[in-house]
Amino acid sequence: MAFLSTLESWFDEHGRTLPWRGIDDPYRIWLSEIILQQTRIEQGRDYYLRFIDAFPTVADLAHASEEQVLRLWQGLGYYSRARNLHAAAQYILNECDGVFPSTYDSLLKLKGVGRYTAAAIASFAYRLPHPVIDGNVYRFISRLRGIATPIGTDSAYSEFESLLMKLIDRDRPDRFNAALMDFGALQCTPHPDCEACPFADECMAFRTHRVAAFPVKALKTKPKDRWFYYLDLRWKGRRIMQQRTGKDIWRGLWEFPLLETPNELTDSELTAEATRFIKERFQLTIFNFQLPSSTS
Ligand code: SF4
Repeated sequence: MAFLSTLESWFDEHGRTLPWRGIDDPYRIWLSEIILQQTRIEQGRDYYLRFIDAFPTVADLAHASEEQVLRLWQGLGYYSRARNLHAAAQYILNECDGVFPSTYDSLLKLKGVGRYTAAAIASFAYRLPHPVIDGNVYRFISRLRGIATPIGTDSAYSEFESLLMKLIDRDRPDRFNAALMDFGALQCTPHPDCEACPFADECMAFRTHRVAAFPVKALKTKPKDRWFYYLDLRWKGRRIMQQRTGKDIWRGLWEFPLLETPNELTDSELTAEATRFIKERFQLTIFNFQLPSSTS
C-alpha cells in the first residue's frame, strides 16, 4: 500500500529514538503515555526515568503511598493523572493478580486510560491493530484527506479510527503508530514544510492551499475565572497549611489556607473576606492582618 510504504520509509529516516520505544513492557509503555499527556517529551522523559527508577514494576507502584507518587509527580501538573496511575496499579495488583491487562477492552477499564492510551498500549506492547490518534495524528490525517470534522470529540475519534483501521500495518501496528505520531510531530507540524513532504502530491490540504485550515477545532467552552487568595497565617512561629479536599485537579495537595472567589476583590473586600474566613474556619481572631503590597 502506497501510504504505508511512504510513511514507513519516512520513519526509517526520521523516526525518534525514545526510552519507551522498541520495548514491549506494557507497564513502561503505560507510564510513558500517562506522563506524556499534556506534557512535552523533553520534560516527560526525565519524569519517566525517575518513575521507572523508583517503581520498576507495577507492583512497586501499587505498594507506594499516594503521597510518594504525588511527590514524584510534582511539577508535572494535572495531578489527577498521578492519582489515576496509582489507583490503576492497585487495581492491576488486586483485581488482575498483578498481570497487566492485554486486550484493548480490558485496558480501557484502567482508571485514566481512554481510547488513545489503550490503543497505544495494545499496539506497542501486544502488537494489536489499534491506531493511536493524538493531536499530531489528527492534524496530519485531516490535512491529508481534507477531513473537516471538528476534532477532539468522541465521534471525530471514531471517524479517524475507522479510516486508520483500513490503513494500519496489521503485522507491525506498533511501528505504524510510532511512524504516524512522529510524522505528525516532526513533519506535518502546525507550520509544515510541505515542499519537503513525501505526501505532498496527494495531500488534499496542500493541493488546495488550505493547510492552515486543518485540523478544524471544536468550539471550546468558555473558561471560568477563579481568584485564589492564599493566606499566610502564622501561629507561634509556625505557618498553617491545609490539604485540599474536593474533586478538582489539586485534590490531596498541601497549600496555604485558600480563600477562593469568582471575582477579583478590592483591598477592603479582601480584608473583610479574609477576616470572616479565618474566624469561621479556624475560630481565630486576627491580631495583625497585612495585605501584600502587590494586591492594590
Ligand atoms: S503536504 Fe504538508 S500538510 Fe500535507 S501531509 Fe505533508 S506536511 Fe502535512
